[in-house]
Amino acid sequence: MRIGYGYDSHRFEDGRRLILGGVEIPGRGLSGHSDADALTHAVTDALLGAAGLGDIGTHFPPTDVEWKGADSLSLLARVVRLLESENYQVVNVDATVVAEQPRIGPHVDAMRGRLAEVIGIAPTHVSIKGKSNEGMGWIGREEGIAVHAVVLIDRVEDQDPVHARHSPALPEL
Ligand code: MG
Repeated sequence: MRIGYGYDSHRFEDGRRLILGGVEIPGRGLSGHSDADALTHAVTDALLGAAGLGDIGTHFPPTDVEWKGADSLSLLARVVRLLESENYQVVNVDATVVAEQPRIGPHVDAMRGRLAEVIGIAPTHVSIKGKSNEGMGWIGREEGIAVHAVVLIDRVEDQDPVHARHSPALPEL
């Protein structure tokens, strides 16, 4: 099993839609090259990190016009397929959205459902929590939002060669 951590932050920008976890939420939108879905970006980076496969910026460069306005769920789906091609399956996701506003609580179940569907796991294995920053710093001044995410992935193979190499032989009884 391998653990991955992802972080993302985006600045608020007037005139844009707010998309988090693939769900449109009433409120000020976020600036960004893609749909600026910071939650999906953090989860995607955590998955890439867990597998040791780089980061979202190298796979989907912001300078590449192909990803302009991109649906971040489609980027997540590509990364899930990449992990599957490396024989990894996702076990669970846990994410925290840090924002002074809007309150994400009413939208958490919808976001869990969207992310779980794209990742191919049960919604009960996707956790999303909202936190305010108690008015402190740039998040407290409502300049933007931050997201932290951790994931656990597991190798599908019966025998992990790395694990086998480092495990001492069982003593004979
Ligand atoms: Mg981002």
